[in-house]
Amino acid sequence: MRAGFDFVIVGAGTAGCVLAARLSEDPSVQVCLIEAGGPANHPFVQIPALVGPAIMHRAFGWGLTTEPEPALDNRRIPLPRGKLIGGSGSINGMAYHRGHPRDYDDWARAGNAGWDWQGVLPYFRRSENNADLRDPALHGTAGPVHVMHIPRPNPLNEAFLQAFASLGEFQPCADFTGSEPEGYGLRQGTIHRGRRDSTAAAYLQPARSRPNLTVLTDAQVLRVRVESGRASGVDVFARGGVQPITAAAEVIVCAGAIHSPQLLMLSGIGAPDALRAQGITVNAALPGVGANYHDHPALPLTMEMHDSTSYGLSWRALPRNAWAVLEYMAARRGMLASNVFESTAFIRSTSGLDRPDIQIAFQPARRNPDGFPLPRGHGFAMSVVNLYPRSRGQVTLSSADIRDPPRVQASLFQDPADIAPMLRGLRLARRLCAAPSLARYHAHEAQPGAAALDDAALIAYLRRAAGTAHHPVGTCRMGVDAGAVVDPQLRVNGVRGLRVVDASVFPSIVGGNTNAPVVMVAERAADLIRGRN
Ligand SMILES: Cc1cc2nc3c(=O)[nH]c(=O)nc-3n(C[C@H](O)[C@H](O)[C@H](O)COP(=O)(O)OP(=O)(O)OC[C@H]3O[C@@H](n4cnc5c(N)ncnc54)[C@H](O)[C@@H]3O)c2cc1C
Repeated sequence: MRAGFDFVIVGAGTAGCVLAARLSEDPSVQVCLIEAGGPANHPFVQIPALVGPAIMHRAFGWGLTTEPEPALDNRRIPLPRGKLIGGSGSINGMAYHRGHPRDYDDWARAGNAGWDWQGVLPYFRRSENNADLRDPALHGTAGPVHVMHIPRPNPLNEAFLQAFASLGEFQPCADFTGSEPEGYGLRQGTIHRGRRDSTAAAYLQPARSRPNLTVLTDAQVLRVRVESGRASGVDVFARGGVQPITAAAEVIVCAGAIHSPQLLMLSGIGAPDALRAQGITVNAALPGVGANYHDHPALPLTMEMHDSTSYGLSWRALPRNAWAVLEYMAARRGMLASNVFESTAFIRSTSGLDRPDIQIAFQPARRNPDGFPLPRGHGFAMSVVNLYPRSRGQVTLSSADIRDPPRVQASLFQDPADIAPMLRGLRLARRLCAAPSLARYHAHEAQPGAAALDDAALIAYLRRAAGTAHHPVGTCRMGVDAGAVVDPQLRVNGVRGLRVVDASVFPSIVGGNTNAPVVMVAERAADLIRGRN
């Protein structure tokens, strides 16, 4: 294998696959994409309904947790992160959202010119091949990532949507990725011909045979080499040895919101005192590296029932499940071609807000208390998600060796203001369960449980049961102030030839699931790198 390239991309996750494909469109440049994990062809990764096993399979993840979280009874919260081609996009829930247009206007208002909604919308469109929503002002129909509604959603979704309608307080939403993503409705997923359409499938796979693209798997980048203020390449650990790989043009770090700051710190880019404490020579003093960690906290309301309408494993559902397997094997259609997360709601939990502050994500399947990855028995769940948490955590080094996982103090609910929207969401979820369309399933509330009525009981439940929606961002924040890690062109401040392009550059989290926004960031980064506007 050659040891010299123009562009070296660290991490073949959601962002890295986009960049590898876009940059290698130019046959005159040599691109190397380096991924710590292995391939993404396992059925758990490919079959949408097996998302639970994909998340929990040890071979596909980094096995991270937070440090003990003080506001959550000192529990360590699981932090699934994909360690395979496609990264977290190869194990995620495939729900397609963009956030709220005002989120991007906020980014631009903070000094990030060009990142306002009108600036980013062309990149959302460019990445998208939407089968159902065809308004050309908002949607792409010729991009790499296939987006669709689930053709035959579970009937419980209709009951969930009717429950919302019966309250008479909220509007239906036909397009959660348009200019007004507010209300309740069926959501879209990134699925194509019955398979997960991650950026590994949609971008990287078609580009893989290009002679100017080299993809290394099971290869972990140990550090970015910085010489005279310039990133000259990386050191890679693969097949038992360390190999230097040089980058004539740029090193682009796409290792995700947890590993990108770790890699920068190990490369001497971070808060000087913290680096020196680990014996690391400082190449650029950037105290913002690893700071500003935030994520969407999530809290489930889980219902259990005898009725077997929901997705789930049971004797009563055996004929239907057996048929689903046959249908999928024959035509890649039906229940197994669904990502399970088929409907949702983005709503304002209180008056006086300028955009929805919570998501109530519906799951027409029981949530197992024991964590078994497929629903055993029947029921449904609503996950309340705080879209704009104020709490900020931090990623720090646990040692100077990248093979030791970094420390993640998520600091969930450290700011007490993050709790109130969750309680309002839980109470609304209960009202939905009591509405006639859902009440007719005679489900009982397993969690938090009917006895948890007042704020104190619900807060106690939150402390013992809240987790996250798996959307960490912000740890290599883009900006123009002293705490920023990258500038609005995503160039690392103080080091030439080095960019970060992934969820870590978000200045603030968007009000929706983060995969499509990361794709947008990578699409825009490709243009910035190629000097196109
Ligand atoms: C369980 C789960 C469910 C989710 N559900 C949804 C959803 O339904 N919809 C949605 O929009 N979003 C969802 N998300 C979030 C979304 O998938 C992420 O925001 C997105 O994938 C982040 O992309 P990224 O490029 O920043 O990082 P990643 O996709 O995590 O990519 C980082 C890559 O870098 C590699 N890497 C790290 N360190 C190194 C190193 N030193 N050397 C080499 N390689 C390295 C990793 O192995 C990984 O492949 C979910 C995420 C998870 C984990």
